Amino acid sequence: MKIIVMKFGGTSVADINRIKNVASIIRNNFKKNKLVVVLSAMAGVTNKLIEMANEVSCDNEPTEREMDVLLSTGEQTTIALTSMAINALGGKAISLTGAQAGIVTDGEHTKARISNISPDEVHRLLDEDHIVILAGFQGSSPDGRITTLGRGGSDITAVALASSLKADRCDIYTDVDGVYSTDPNIDQTAKKIEKISYEEMLEMSSMGAKVLQTRSVELAMKNNLSLQVLSSITNLPGTMIVNEKDLIEKEVVSGVSYSDKEAKVTISGVPDIPGISAKIFGSLADNNINVDMIVQNISQDGITANLTFTIQENEMDLAKQIIEANKSSIKYTSLSTNANVSKISVIGVGMKSQSGVAQKMFQTLANKHINILAISTSEIKISVLIDKEYTHRAVKSLHIAYSLN
Ligand code: ASP
Ligand code: MG
Repeated sequence: MKIIVMKFGGTSVADINRIKNVASIIRNNFKKNKLVVVLSAMAGVTNKLIEMANEVSCDNEPTEREMDVLLSTGEQTTIALTSMAINALGGKAISLTGAQAGIVTDGEHTKARISNISPDEVHRLLDEDHIVILAGFQGSSPDGRITTLGRGGSDITAVALASSLKADRCDIYTDVDGVYSTDPNIDQTAKKIEKISYEEMLEMSSMGAKVLQTRSVELAMKNNLSLQVLSSITNLPGTMIVNEKDLIEKEVVSGVSYSDKEAKVTISGVPDIPGISAKIFGSLADNNINVDMIVQNISQDGITANLTFTIQENEMDLAKQIIEANKSSIKYTSLSTNANVSKISVIGVGMKSQSGVAQKMFQTLANKHINILAISTSEIKISVLIDKEYTHRAVKSLHIAYSLN
């Protein structure tokens, strides 16, 4: 018998009817497979718990230890209710907390990492024909404190557990029925992708196509675990995320993604001497600001250069403060920031061996009179920065240009 790990996100267990629906999906899959089910908290519950913690703490920060005790209750509610619902349908379900399932993490409250899983108890229950219902997003530190894995962490629980059980597949049930060639809210002709590689999925999930938590995809790739993203409502096959060598047809471009949460920083008139970039980016890194695209142009006089780079929009003000504080050592003449920008990316493993992909992107945008502010590339991705107001126009025209519609 195959072992399948199924994970249901918060919208799939948002109320009693949805929980009953999930219970029947689980029952139907049980006939053919051994099942471990990982659950999130009901939609909105984790946010509500955080709100209450802040209210009760007044102006103080609640301690992270208590925060984790609190946040872990959201998932405990859904595992108990779902187990009851399955049992009411005549199934044999049993719920386990993270600690009971042998999930050991480091001690970093609210952002713990799984260090080890001892799946003996889960195996024992599966051997006794139980359906094991496991609380996502939580574990236990080596000294027995409850820890949580960071927002969206139940995807990680599911993938880590599936890897440790050597499961045949990990099915992630969510409120979309798969990964699309672009955001269906922008372009209704977006189509569901049947199969994509881990690398493509990683590029997509870090660029706004927020279907799966990025760390969970990295973990699946490391363990060569096949993932499927599918809907708990439609009951249709979803998107499989697999090893690149298991893709029969490697698409040159499989998707167009965008992120409108970007900001552009331009530092003009910096001395064109060794060590200046190291100084600028070093001070940003020290403050945990992640820099994405970088463009440097040397000015005509050969003495000064201009530097443009992008960061997350919500870090723009902090970045500005840091650079201004270092003005005497960076020695620039002016600094400007702009949050009205979007990054548009085309992604596909097939572009590794195909020329003209970038040219097509630039020509398509030119035809639409969209100016490119910065460009960055990797083996399987080309990204451009444009004015935010053209986001939809760019996404739609590229989607057509690469025949994705
Ligand atoms: N309930 C947690 C959250 O909202 C974990 C998850 O849903 O994956 O972040
Ligand atoms: Mg989620």
